[in-house]
Amino acid sequence: MENFDFCFRGGKVHVSGALIDGDLCVQGEKIALVAKREMAHGARRVIDVSGKWLLPGIIDLHAHSRDPGYTQKEDFFTISQAAAAGGVTTWVDMPNVEPPTTTVELFQEKRSRAEKLSLVDFGHFASGVNLEEIPKLAGAGVTGFKIFQVSGAYPHDPRLALNDEGKLLQSFRAISKTGLPCVVHPFNQSLFDFFSEEAFAQGKPKNHVTFAEIYTREVVWESAVASLLMLQRESGARLHVVHTHAARSLRLLRQAKSRGQSVTVEIDPKYFHLGRSDLEEKGPKICPAGFIPEDKERMEEIWRSFRDGTIDNIGSDHAPHTSQEVERQRADAWTAAMGNPQYDHYLSVFMNDVHDGKISLADLVRCLSENPARILGIYPRKGTLLPGADADLVVVDPERERTLSDQGVYTKVGWSPYAGWKVKGVPVLTMARGRIVAEEGMVVGEPGFGKFIGGVPQ
Ligand SMILES: [Zn+2]
Repeated sequence: MENFDFCFRGGKVHVSGALIDGDLCVQGEKIALVAKREMAHGARRVIDVSGKWLLPGIIDLHAHSRDPGYTQKEDFFTISQAAAAGGVTTWVDMPNVEPPTTTVELFQEKRSRAEKLSLVDFGHFASGVNLEEIPKLAGAGVTGFKIFQVSGAYPHDPRLALNDEGKLLQSFRAISKTGLPCVVHPFNQSLFDFFSEEAFAQGKPKNHVTFAEIYTREVVWESAVASLLMLQRESGARLHVVHTHAARSLRLLRQAKSRGQSVTVEIDPKYFHLGRSDLEEKGPKICPAGFIPEDKERMEEIWRSFRDGTIDNIGSDHAPHTSQEVERQRADAWTAAMGNPQYDHYLSVFMNDVHDGKISLADLVRCLSENPARILGIYPRKGTLLPGADADLVVVDPERERTLSDQGVYTKVGWSPYAGWKVKGVPVLTMARGRIVAEEGMVVGEPGFGKFIGGVPQ
């Protein structure tokens, strides 16, 4: 009888879009076997997962690690702890740190620091605004490129923003040659600036509520997505559009995909989970979310886009700031930090959606694990529970209920926008490459175990 390192026995395993009754065994860093239960396999540690589900670990393409430069908010160690707690086994972060990730040297410094600190695997998206640096960064192994169309104050760093279409096209052409993902935060800055001036002239307060309302207006996103799709067609870049919470953006993206354009579509949880009552109750911690769940047309388009595959992946936009930093939005949201941490309660929020029948488990796994692995070019090494894949997995108790709380969260800022939410479906164990990194809410991994995931040209 084989002697594996681990055997998860008695539960259901999510394989090829379905939950099957079976046991999963791990040897070293890999899944060694997924098999019917009758065959009892020996293992150093047998874990009884009766009544529980095994899902692939989450691959998150939208983290803000805050490291280097803003480590009062988060660092590579704390982000990876929060990730492990929330079921995330690979995170890829954005270049809006200090100094921003714009050159090979800065990328390499960032990578070597994360290699010392992260409990789980990780990648880095570098800035795609500097034409000379793009081929060099690709040669140095960056996971992909990120361009912000939004500008203004931190975290929307003007040094990382491009909203001139001629310049965007040049960047897209250069990124296209690398074969790496071209991740874009779509935003029509000019329309946003105009709506802001209009609101101030009407005497609206410069606070988080006014900001969130204007920031999430359909046309600000739709008009940006329309032009990005044209630039994609001109350049052939592998466009990855994030924050696709506008109904009309999703329709444009659906059409572009049906024409065969190379575009993938990401949505982040805050926009379709956090509503007006959250914004009123928790204030700036929710901004710029708060205005979408009450919009029936948008919500219907979002759920439809999960079902028909228009949305490819869910990216967390884990974006921690201290409570004091976000509180400044009450006086001036246009210059204050905004965003919220997501990782600690990440999988629970979605398991609750599955429980409520809003999204199928198969679509959730596709969006959290399978498709992100494909976008990075690392499927089926990651993103699935097939034998031979990395043993990145989460054990979920689908029946366990919990009230989410700020208590015990691992993100350095110590709060969650979901505090107070009652959910059904909780991760009880996270394994990364064959190591248990979280169990029953306790993170137990080892800093430096995480390995860098380099870019794969496609
Ligand atoms: Zn972001």
